[in-house]
Amino acid sequence: MPFAEAQRIKNLPPYLFARIEKLIADKKAAGVDIISLGIGDPDLPTPDYIIDELCRQARVAENHQYPSSVGLLSYRQAVADWYKQRFGVELDPKTQVVSLIGSKEGIAHISWCYLDPGDIVLVPDPGYPVYAGGAILAGAQPYYMPLTRENGFLPDLDAIPADIARRAKMMFINYPNNPTGAVADDAFYRRVIDFAREYNILVCHDAAYSEVSYDGYRPPSFLQFPGASEVGIEFNSVSKAYNMTGWRIGWAAGNPAVVEALGRLKSNLDSGQFQAVQYAAIAGLTAPQDFVFQMQKVYQERRDMLVNALNEMGWQLEKPRATFYIWAPVPKGYTSESFAEAVLEKAAVVVTPGTGYGPSGAGYVRMSLTLPTARLEEAVERLKKHIGPVSF
Ligand SMILES: *Cc1c(COP(=O)(O)O)cnc(C)c1O
Repeated sequence: MPFAEAQRIKNLPPYLFARIEKLIADKKAAGVDIISLGIGDPDLPTPDYIIDELCRQARVAENHQYPSSVGLLSYRQAVADWYKQRFGVELDPKTQVVSLIGSKEGIAHISWCYLDPGDIVLVPDPGYPVYAGGAILAGAQPYYMPLTRENGFLPDLDAIPADIARRAKMMFINYPNNPTGAVADDAFYRRVIDFAREYNILVCHDAAYSEVSYDGYRPPSFLQFPGASEVGIEFNSVSKAYNMTGWRIGWAAGNPAVVEALGRLKSNLDSGQFQAVQYAAIAGLTAPQDFVFQMQKVYQERRDMLVNALNEMGWQLEKPRATFYIWAPVPKGYTSESFAEAVLEKAAVVVTPGTGYGPSGAGYVRMSLTLPTARLEEAVERLKKHIGPVSF
């Protein structure tokens, strides 16, 4: 029976990688050993003390019942304490923190709280596809803010036409940034807060990579800047900090009215996250943060290995100060897609075409550091051997 899909799902952007995924599947079927630098998901395990807490709490009968959709108060308190310790930010756990089933869940759903059909939302391009996807599902219209190398991969707020800024109800920003690896300085956050005040725009800052940074750099929280909690919220989770992407536990924090609206929406959609998982996340957030620094060290070594090799081949990449991504321009004569296909054909290595993250991703590919170091070494050898010197 043909069921007509709702317009909101028909409006979602088409899936771009069908062609390259077919090529990958064909190669795998032919027995080729493919190394993927395409996946942004930590390869290292969750620390034992977090797993132990899950196991303990899974045996507690009261955890087997429905949790609340906004999260245990002790979980929200742990998030607030972490903000205090990490950023010096004071949050009221009762009114300024809501638990999420991973930050992706909240990022997708916030649009349902604040966007009506036809409304405009400012979205970074390239960017995490969920910003535009959630907005489109709410019937809203993304306005893409290009992130260019010339602007340090920060949106140029002055380039947003005044009529668009006036009509925009929300803006997504994300630093440290996926996919570009860029970080934002304090002046940028202050400028965003001024802009949001001027045009009455709700700022949604995605801080998913706040703990994945190098060379001693510690990314700030949006919420530590004066006025941030008046104009916005911050999304984050334990996913990237403690290798817990599969556990699905995160939060939104900041503006109380926005936190309340998100919680109210969620009470109509879900019943929150398994309490044992919330207790495990508390264990991660409240333990000494040594684990985070060990993780940073592993990625930093991988980053140095990959960037140094690419630069020997002719790239002129700066080492990203955060995230586990390398955002590399494609050599002369290639598009994002044709270069990704060439790398797959010649080296059996998967890199992601930048266009998967928005039109301004054209001319770039993203390479991820989330694979065992020995496999990354092998990928580097293959690139040197089969792609060789490149020019731009
Ligand atoms: C990984 C990621 C997230 C979401 O992670 P959750 O596991 O849902 O918390 C959010 N934003 C960006 C940019 C990411 O890369």
